[in-house]
Amino acid sequence: MTQPAASPRGTVPHEIDTVVVGAGFGGMYMLHRLRGLGLSAIVFDVAAGVGGTWYWNRYPGARCDVESMQYSYSFSDALQQEWRWSEVFAGQPEILRYANHVADRLDLRRDMRFETRVTSAIFDETAHRWTVRTDRGDVVSARYCVMATGCLSAARMPDFPGLASFAGKTYHTGQWPHEDVDFTGLRVGVVGTGSSAIQSIPVIAAQAAHVTVFQRTPNFSIPSRNGPMPDDYAGSWKDSYAERRAEARMARTGILAYPNDRSAIETPEAERLAVYEQRWESGGTTFMAAFNDLIFNKASNDTAAEFVRGKIRAMVKDPAKADLLAPDSHPIGTKRICVDTDYYLTYNRPNVDLVDVRNAPIEALTPDGLRAGGKEYAFDAIVFATGFDAMTGALTRMGIVGRGGEALADKWEAGPRTYLGLMTAGFPNMFMITGPGSPSVLSNMIVSIEQHVDWIAGCLSHLNMRQLDCIEATLPAEDGWVRHVNEVADTTLYPSAASWYMGANIPGKPRVFMPYIGGVGTYREKCDAVAANGYEGFALTGPTNAAVAAE
Ligand code: NAP
Repeated sequence: MTQPAASPRGTVPHEIDTVVVGAGFGGMYMLHRLRGLGLSAIVFDVAAGVGGTWYWNRYPGARCDVESMQYSYSFSDALQQEWRWSEVFAGQPEILRYANHVADRLDLRRDMRFETRVTSAIFDETAHRWTVRTDRGDVVSARYCVMATGCLSAARMPDFPGLASFAGKTYHTGQWPHEDVDFTGLRVGVVGTGSSAIQSIPVIAAQAAHVTVFQRTPNFSIPSRNGPMPDDYAGSWKDSYAERRAEARMARTGILAYPNDRSAIETPEAERLAVYEQRWESGGTTFMAAFNDLIFNKASNDTAAEFVRGKIRAMVKDPAKADLLAPDSHPIGTKRICVDTDYYLTYNRPNVDLVDVRNAPIEALTPDGLRAGGKEYAFDAIVFATGFDAMTGALTRMGIVGRGGEALADKWEAGPRTYLGLMTAGFPNMFMITGPGSPSVLSNMIVSIEQHVDWIAGCLSHLNMRQLDCIEATLPAEDGWVRHVNEVADTTLYPSAASWYMGANIPGKPRVFMPYIGGVGTYREKCDAVAANGYEGFALTGPTNAAVAAE
């Protein structure tokens, strides 16, 4: 795909109102709103362009599993009317083109500095300002910091012994090269069977001489039923965008999923199966909206899980492979449900093998390939689809230091603590977009991003109007919110799975359910009520330093 040529890097001011970290969908919209408020802002990103997740995840088959008509900005009717999606579920190149289109339309890049990593952000308690440093030597003093760093941006490569000894090429799905990768004629190993693997394996298998998939935990995947975007379907959305977006903003996941308000277990079996069959045929993550208790009631969940296991057994011809692929370790949906194109059918190809590493783990990489369960496997290339240090990794690695010299990484040692997923006590004037404690990864990310950015913009405008210069979450409010997040999670089956939602994919990471599962609409109402009550649970203070106040 074409990307705008890199422009010379502009200067970085020494003082600014706001530093935004991240030029993905969160950072882009935040910059637009900050400009609207008359606040100066600069955006830093390690990438060479906008797009965030969609800049990095260029692996074969990368595709959004929220429908294109719903996975796009809603803040500008002109934008949503003019953009034409070519497929029902857009692929990565098209989403990245869309991000670049938005950056062009809003002239965002002039306030963005790419290929620049923020190395520290330190709060000055006297001046109420953040000092932000980058790996380019920039030092910026900012009133506010907005961390738009994404939830799945810190790619995780397991530290297998011998990694450097492998003579072939290695790839991580979350850091895919920009140039084409050609697997023609190659023996390829793929480690992992999460969303990224499930999307990429069919595409790699169609090209490579041979693919061996190393599976630790089988995952549930639903067919996407992707196809070219029908004009009348896109048209029906464009004609009623205002109403549909309003509905999505209040929906549980921020996606119009047409939820069925019946219990699975209380529905007669024949009827229940017909509902699953219809959801399976229409495809996508909305399968989980087939009944209202799939994430609450294990017996109900079992009916959905068994239905999908039956589909897997019907699709995969080799019964031994089918058994291995049928998930049995967690309730369906408690690890992020996957969406695929021909994933299970790919295992019927003669050039695809599946190796179970649950009880015979990968021990090491070798010059020729890898060793698992004492057996050697030879490869020309290995693809690691091994996921991310999700939700907290990008933040705790950044060198963020708040009041009293406390590092965020230390404060969150036992798990992230936030108020509303927007701020964390002891770190004044630092906002997070889709932070832990907010619906974020359990929702349509763009809906959640817009809600956070709008809330932050409202908050900054409130501070400005009252000539206040500092906002900070209070500890009691934060403690109450963390308690609430956990209580709500504990009413569901989610904590029973060893998922990345729980931090379980990173050795030593505390097991805490990180996102807020109360629903996007409920959460929005809570955030709005907090603002309407004068930012209840936050401490708002005025300038303490005359020189700063006079700025
Ligand atoms: P992931 O879901 O965390 O999957 C990582 C995979 O690697 C898992 O199968 C994991 O096994 C395996 N793994 C990790 N370390 C291993 C080891 N040492 N040995 C063997 N296997 C190992 O990561 P992901 O697939 O990149 O997806 C992350 C999230 O990104 C998704 O859940 C989704 O939210 C998002 N995503 C979305 C889309 C989309 O919208 N279409 C596409 C891709 C990703 P275990 O399960 O046993 O840990």
